Amino acid sequence: METDMLDPTQDEWNLETLAIRAGHDRTQEQEHSEPIFPTSSFVYGSAAEAARKFSGDEPGNVYSRFTNPTVRTFERRLAAMEGGERCVATSSGMAAILSTALALLQAGDEIVASRSLFGSTVSLFDKYLGKFGITTRYVELSDLDAWEVAMTPATRLLFAETPSNPLSEVVDIAALAELAHRHDALLAIDNCFLTPALQRPLSLGADLVIHSATKYLDGQGRAIGGAVVGRDKELEEVFGVVRTCGPCLSPFNAWIFTKGLETLNLRMKAHAASALELARWLDAHPAVEKVHYSGLESHPQHQVASRQQQGFGAVVGVEVKGGREQAWSVVDATRMLSITGNLGDAKTTITHPATTTHGRLSDEQKATAGISENLLRIAVGLENLDDIKADLARGLDALV
Ligand SMILES: *Cc1c(COP(=O)(O)O)cnc(C)c1O
Repeated sequence: METDMLDPTQDEWNLETLAIRAGHDRTQEQEHSEPIFPTSSFVYGSAAEAARKFSGDEPGNVYSRFTNPTVRTFERRLAAMEGGERCVATSSGMAAILSTALALLQAGDEIVASRSLFGSTVSLFDKYLGKFGITTRYVELSDLDAWEVAMTPATRLLFAETPSNPLSEVVDIAALAELAHRHDALLAIDNCFLTPALQRPLSLGADLVIHSATKYLDGQGRAIGGAVVGRDKELEEVFGVVRTCGPCLSPFNAWIFTKGLETLNLRMKAHAASALELARWLDAHPAVEKVHYSGLESHPQHQVASRQQQGFGAVVGVEVKGGREQAWSVVDATRMLSITGNLGDAKTTITHPATTTHGRLSDEQKATAGISENLLRIAVGLENLDDIKADLARGLDALV
């Protein structure tokens, strides 16, 4: 089959250039922009060529569940940006996590994961992987001792989101990678919140990077997709799952994400700059009890975040003074912000985690996860920051 080896000259390019130039093999049509290949299969010049392509003796496209040129452009570009040998694209972020688990784990294996994970990831681990004899233990993200205590000789995979959603907790990726490798396990980082523009987990020692391309890689809320990035060895197994089991990315969506990557660096810097300023403004507002953002000096893991991240991301957790009623009143006073659980969009979104994204947790689980009734999550978009502040000030000012 096709290999996704990177052009060695790309090693000399910086991230901003890779985001725009990497991964596109210009066709004989000499197109300037990356083309879309909406085709399910590919044809051959002869029966003998078809036989060689099917057997894998000759590299080339056979069927778009296996490889597709538009999908490959996205994979090669993202691999280059994350500094991985290879990327495999998937139909969603959840498909990326599922494919990784199917590829690298078997019955009896154990996962240790951070407690503050995306909700569907927890369901995937507990409800579905659990059915096949793979068990998961959850630990406090930033507590390295807790990770080590939770590991057993059967632990094959450590899985973390950093910074976490919605409280912006951070784990030292290099230390967690060292711990994983000392126990013969792999470390996977879900890098959805920062993207390679602001954090490159592989360069810190992680083995696998997981993406929901649905979020910032697209950046405009248009398409669902995902990706896994890492070494050839593990990614060949992930590729085997995607090609056989079928959670492959559509060429149209791959094209949207490829074009999204071209502006990723600019967008993430702008998202992060607005979020930092908004976090500081919220921190000083009399109706605010606490702000959770790793860019604030008061954040418990601010040092680690400053060391391993090139920015602090766009998701700000804010606890208002009061309870659910006060938090809801701030949401309901907005006129411009989108009231939705999604994030990673040019449009700023606001949500009340305790009754939406984390609504299915028990009161005890919410307490452990720090999801209080007065907590709001703001995923800062690219609108004018003064307009975002004004939209929030309406509700916040009414509380004082
Ligand atoms: C959205 C999200 C996912 C799942 O991605 P989908 O594309 O919705 O399947 C996984 N991890 C994180 C951190 C997410 O925000």
